[in-house]
Amino acid sequence: MGASAEDAVAALFGKIKRSRLNAYNVLSEDLALERARDFDRSPWSGLMAGVPIAIKSCISTRGIETNCSSRILSGYTPPYDATVIERLKEEGAIIVGKTNMDEFAMGTSTETSYFGPTRNPWDLDRVPGGSSGGSAAAVAAGEAPAALGSDTGGSIRCPASFCGIVGLKPTYGLVSRYGLVSYANSLEQIGPLTLTVEDAALVLDVIAGHDPRDSTSADTPGGYLSALDRGVDGLTLGVPEEYFGEGVNPKVERSVWDAISKLEELGASWKEVSLPHTKYALAAYYIIAMSEASSNLARFDGLRYGLRLGADQDWHTTFSDIRAAGFGPEVKRRVLLGTYALSAGYYGRYYLKALKVRTLIKEDFERALSVGGADLLVTPTMPFPAFKIGERIEDPLSLYMADVFTVPINLAGVPAISVPCGFADGLPIGLQIIGRHFDEVSVLRAAKAYEDATPYHEAVPKEVV
Ligand code: GLN
Repeated sequence: MGASAEDAVAALFGKIKRSRLNAYNVLSEDLALERARDFDRSPWSGLMAGVPIAIKSCISTRGIETNCSSRILSGYTPPYDATVIERLKEEGAIIVGKTNMDEFAMGTSTETSYFGPTRNPWDLDRVPGGSSGGSAAAVAAGEAPAALGSDTGGSIRCPASFCGIVGLKPTYGLVSRYGLVSYANSLEQIGPLTLTVEDAALVLDVIAGHDPRDSTSADTPGGYLSALDRGVDGLTLGVPEEYFGEGVNPKVERSVWDAISKLEELGASWKEVSLPHTKYALAAYYIIAMSEASSNLARFDGLRYGLRLGADQDWHTTFSDIRAAGFGPEVKRRVLLGTYALSAGYYGRYYLKALKVRTLIKEDFERALSVGGADLLVTPTMPFPAFKIGERIEDPLSLYMADVFTVPINLAGVPAISVPCGFADGLPIGLQIIGRHFDEVSVLRAAKAYEDATPYHEAVPKEVV
């Protein structure tokens, strides 16, 4: 205590530079130190006054490279801030740098980054989860007290689960996407990755709310932090039968059931519910996400942003040469499949079908979470703990399957949090708590009650420098 903000920020950079995790791909050391010095000279107030925060590389930051872990955007520095960044700055936060991610947020392991994989601080041979793996690893290892990620199909919750921290995907529309580099815009939201539920609520209070520059953003009463301590008394939890059994690691399953018993002890009741269309969620998600990606990534033509290759030729040759050299294999695969799914002859067979399935999945959640049903749903976040680097990357389908419990939530647009709920062979396990549209308050208060009654969030990974 008593140390200056400058000393604290300098110490943080020391730690990041000694780290073996590769959690960041850009550091904004000069800007951060300058801001810390300003703070020391005349401290400002604000919900996050003087607090350092790490930002996923797909969220635009004025003057700080925003490369989405892709070669095609290497060297691209946005001339403006995303709305979430403006809000963090207004509340006094200090940006440390940009975190490593799967290229354009396409992945579950942070292995598709152009800048090499990020490592899991609990076991350096394992992935941190993805696609916000850099954000999660940084927070878990003390290389940032908090981080922002983005979640299109699990990219906040999966790495939170694999790294033993808290990660919240807000309701679709709660947080402005202005300045988020789009992957699949109908599915994704920006959200916090933190060590505690309280910190997640605080960051959400800062970033949530209507933004005239994002027409899908909604007004919100906020007040997440102040609603935290209401406990779980009187809440009914729904336990979806489709999220247990085959394919789920038995230790994960046991930890989640123990968590349900703990929440029951704390005053909640639970009942079994069914989300019958769960088995179609992965197929629908990947068709929709890839279709949107193929359209969103068309803007990377090599003329307006990032990578250039020697002399220009005719437009078609230049466009395809730059994209061939600038995108990695997973991005190419998705652009190709998405373009195929949207093409005239197949649109009805794939894309339209997937949209219909999406409606059925949304209705599953509305039914399970209807008045008289459950207030919250409780499931594992991931079917298993962190896997080894290299174990799945050559087999895209096995990677896609890992998202089975996270993608339905994005298809339905509801909020969900992952909180630490145990360990399997020394690796963290995540509990997923899902709520009704815009009912982040119930999600957070259940997560907080559980956290207060359990020790898992206090465990510290091995790889902390
Ligand atoms: N793993 C999922 C995908 O690859 C989710 C990614 C994300 O949420 N950005 O699409």
